Amino acid sequence: MISIDRSVQTADLGDVRVANRAVVLRHVRLHAPCSRADVAARTGLNKATVSSLVGELIERGLLRETGLTENRVGRPATMLVLDGARYVGLGLQIGADELVVVAADLSGERLLTWRRAFAAATAGPEETVRALAALARRATSRVTGAGRTVLGLTVGVPGLVDADGAVPLAPALGWRGVPLAAELRRALREPGFPVGVDTDANLAVSAELRHGPYAGTADLVHLTGGLAVGAGLVSGGRLLRGGRGFAGEIGHLPVLADGPPSATADPACRCGRRGCLAAVAGVDAVVRRVLPDAAQDGPVTDYLPEIERIQALARAGDEPVRAGLTEIGRQLGHAVSVLVDLLDPEVVVVGGHLATLAPWLLPAARAEVAARTLAPPGGVRLEPSTLGSAASALGGATAALATVEAGQLPAA
Ligand SMILES: [Zn+2]
Repeated sequence: MISIDRSVQTADLGDVRVANRAVVLRHVRLHAPCSRADVAARTGLNKATVSSLVGELIERGLLRETGLTENRVGRPATMLVLDGARYVGLGLQIGADELVVVAADLSGERLLTWRRAFAAATAGPEETVRALAALARRATSRVTGAGRTVLGLTVGVPGLVDADGAVPLAPALGWRGVPLAAELRRALREPGFPVGVDTDANLAVSAELRHGPYAGTADLVHLTGGLAVGAGLVSGGRLLRGGRGFAGEIGHLPVLADGPPSATADPACRCGRRGCLAAVAGVDAVVRRVLPDAAQDGPVTDYLPEIERIQALARAGDEPVRAGLTEIGRQLGHAVSVLVDLLDPEVVVVGGHLATLAPWLLPAARAEVAARTLAPPGGVRLEPSTLGSAASALGGATAALATVEAGQLPAA
């Protein structure tokens, strides 16, 4: 009995120290610059514990003293801030027509954002892994060349991702059964830091939660705009993944189920069904619907110029373009109303082309949400993301730093 008690106690003390480290790091992240005494007073940890934890965190390069002093009555105090210098997370994202890599440090500063044109829908998994690995290697060598350590890399994928970082199905990419994390680790020749994979929607909502204007919102949804439309769901402050990690596939919610099927009113989705949200509001669907001439010279593979053309036409008051966007906005609102009835979020943020075209999509979407939801109006805000088109990569970089933020010390 005694030995069991002792081992339990040892484990608990270790866990307590990890948890306390996380508390100190979080407090400094949110309230820096602050003194050791502030940390103790505001977290409820005793001063000796704070002093010991801060000493360890400074030694490991996670906190530093700024040398600033706070002139209170009594002794001036040395102020603490997060040390952004030493550790970096990398995030990659597979976009509709590009790959993106972001490197961010522990203080949330973006050190680099690189993009390369890439036709993800047609490239296939092997070429995609090669291109992701090349981009990751370049970013890693830039970061390590500057004397920093990469703590981890997370890739955002528009599709289903399981607990092993494999992609059982990603209709937007035409992938089925791709062991992406394992393939990427092999391509990077076991890089010495963890390589993770998550849905682009989960990473984007994590980025919103940390870096966006609604940071800290406990009930928040991010809808990605790309070839797929995925939902990153935060409810009660927690990311909802579902039983197998497959929650949030709102892009395959049928929004055109009523009425007779027809080629224009009930378009085919990459998943093999008809009338899905992605088949209406995905970036390719929006371009097809609003700019019928765009594919005259062959299939569109570069979406940004087309979305900018739609934006310019809508701004200039082009009626057919505006009517098309209003109709898409209504269908987007239909899907959002389901989310609102199920989850009662405070804010739903839309990203990618949905954010770019928000002035013409969201008024109709908001009206549809108000008309279709049961709860009294005024409960949910539907807003464009302000994080830009690298939100998932930024979330990936943040995710790669999560173990340190949770109080685990990086390998020395
Ligand atoms: Zn579908």
